[in-house]
Parts: sequence; structure tokens; C-alpha cells
Amino acid sequence: MAKCSYCGASESMPFTCKFCGGKFCAEHRLPENHACPGLVVYKESRGKEPEKWIYEPFKAEYKELAGRVPEKSIAFRLREFFSSLDMRKALYIIVAIILLSVVLRSLGVI
Ligand SMILES: [Zn+2]
Ligand SMILES: [Zn+2]
Repeated sequence: MAKCSYCGASESMPFTCKFCGGKFCAEHRLPENHACPGLVVYKESRGKEPEKWIYEPFKAEYKELAGRVPEKSIAFRLREFFSSLDMRKALYIIVAIILLSVVLRSLGVI
């Protein structure tokens, strides 16, 4: 007889969680049902988008959802672009724009 690590119920055939190694009753055998600490680590190790993972009870493992990943919006792409620019590059661009405007002004273009 073993006891469920989550609710303490006696289980003659406890389920072992492959993520945290704990023993659980039938009701709490799924990682979601025993606030599994191993699950968080597992999902983080598989990528930063845990909502794309579904639990397969029969294989007792997580699988990436089939189908296309939704397109990234333009706003998201822009945000990605600007966050990838480092400050030094941004500074160079600003200085270049200022210099250009000074040169154009001195030439009487503007
Ligand atoms: Zn239980
Ligand atoms: Zn677990």
C-alpha cells in the first residue's frame, strides 16, 4: 500500500509521475492534478510556449499541438525588431540622422 503524495489516500496500485517521481492515486496521477513541480520544469525545457503542449494520457507525455503556429502580428514583429536593436546601434542611427540633417541644412537643401 502506498499513499498518494497529494491527498494522502491509500492506493494499492499507485501511479508514478514521470515528471516529479511522486506516487499518486488515480485521481491525482495527472501532473495538472497534483500541482506537479516537475511539469513546470518540463514545459520550460520544451520551450517558452507551454500552451502549445497537450498532455497525452495514454503515452503519459506531452506532445506539441498539431497544426500551424499562428502568424506573428506586425506589431509583435516590430517589437521583436526593436528589442533586437542594441542601444549602441540605435545611437549610431540617431547620430547619423543628426549629421545628415546638419549637412543638408548647411548645403541649403532643407
Ligand atoms: Zn490523490
Ligand atoms: Zn508530478
